[in-house]
Amino acid sequence: MKIYNTLTRQKEEFVPIEEGKVRMYVCGPTVYNLIHIGNARPMIVFDTFRRYLEYKGYEVRFVSNFTDVDDKIIKKAQEEGVDAGEISSRYIAECKKDMEGMNILPATVHPLATQEIDGMIEMIRTLIDKGFAYAAADGTVYYRTGKFASYGKLSHKNLEDLQAGHRDIKVTGDLKEEPFDFVLWKPKKEGEPAWESPWGQGRPGWHIECSVMSKKYLGDTIDIHAGGEDLIFPHHENEIAQSEAASGKEFSRYWMHNGFLNIDNQKMSKSLGNFFTVREIAQKYDLQVLRFFMLSAHYRSPLNFSAELMDAAASGLERILTAAEQLKRLQRADTAATEAMSAKEAELYEGTGQFQQKFEAAMEDDCNTADAVSAIFELVKYINTNVSSECSASYLQQLYDRLEELCRVLGIVIEQKEEVLDADIEKLIQERQQARKNKDFARADQIREELAAKGITLKDTREGVTWKRA
Ligand code: AMP
Ligand code: ZN
Repeated sequence: MKIYNTLTRQKEEFVPIEEGKVRMYVCGPTVYNLIHIGNARPMIVFDTFRRYLEYKGYEVRFVSNFTDVDDKIIKKAQEEGVDAGEISSRYIAECKKDMEGMNILPATVHPLATQEIDGMIEMIRTLIDKGFAYAAADGTVYYRTGKFASYGKLSHKNLEDLQAGHRDIKVTGDLKEEPFDFVLWKPKKEGEPAWESPWGQGRPGWHIECSVMSKKYLGDTIDIHAGGEDLIFPHHENEIAQSEAASGKEFSRYWMHNGFLNIDNQKMSKSLGNFFTVREIAQKYDLQVLRFFMLSAHYRSPLNFSAELMDAAASGLERILTAAEQLKRLQRADTAATEAMSAKEAELYEGTGQFQQKFEAAMEDDCNTADAVSAIFELVKYINTNVSSECSASYLQQLYDRLEELCRVLGIVIEQKEEVLDADIEKLIQERQQARKNKDFARADQIREELAAKGITLKDTREGVTWKRA
């Protein structure tokens, strides 16, 4: 499998550090608001990449953090007159709801920056001991950027240019040795959350958080580090400088970055009024459509979001879901003489292998989900032309399984949610009442659980039993 490595600016064969295992870190969101559809892009594309790795049989240890201490969180907390912790835990919970709606698998670990402060202090101390960092008189600790010889290797910037660019903007009273030195630890300001440290009370800088969480949950050297392309500089460049100076080892072997999502060909921004949260999109579309839309483009290309493109994604997805439904319907209406596949069907089924191969070839080529989606469309077309109510149940099922397997890699669910009819619910409620009368409480509980699993909750009132759908 080839992936484009930002570090070398070329597609490279992916070779994991340890055979059969992948250690991957994806920078997560800063939680001060509902996530927007731009934040959803790295979540969707790297979740899909992870699913493909798992499909290939890799054991993936996937770590994605929540940045839960930050200026924006503090500002929001001050506006609302609540604790910063209340803001971050509220929006972590909301983010997890959106992730579930977009069918994003939970990470192996979702570390929180505020829970990892000890590790950050330890890494900062190591950097100071090795001469890569220094504490200024006001309690700020800075990274000594000029000492890290390969600074700029990821963003392909060169230190002299950075130096030249910064020379004019050195602020008097600035306690940095050099303008491009960046913050590892900030001293406490009144009303802000702070932790004890050898440099006084304060809080960590953003970059050190990811270096530390990656090291703690994945080790000094990891296979893949990923995020949006805006993170290449300075965030990821600084992470490399911190981690490699501290450990003396390579930090990440491959760096993957997704392109940006624009709205109607413009940068998404609140001031332009073209800013959408995932929650807003969910009011208009099934979030599966948003996921499918994101995957119809290559993850490194810029992606334009518009109502027309979303509608096109919705109808493309519908084509796939209709084919799946058709396979199920034909199975129910099966008129074939036998359950088993005929020789002709076996041959037709064999023919679907080519679409799976196309799908895999696309995914092997730097996670080209756009081509992978095309392979699924070809499979759908093939299915539509090669099925009828005369087909055997096992042939129909195998076609369904092939379609389902490929869609699952993309995180697209083709299985129809089972519709529970009102009448069936009423019938079960009556049965439950009868069971209670007979003192068969086990059966009564079982019915309640059965309904709960289908999203139906029961409420026992004095007037009788009422129910509602989730
Ligand atoms: P943030 O909360 O701003 O740190 O962003 C979380 C993740 O979303 C990072 O990987 C960003 O690169 C990514 N991201 C933010 N805005 C966009 C966008 N418009 N398009 C694609 N990715 C984005
Ligand atoms: Zn990060």
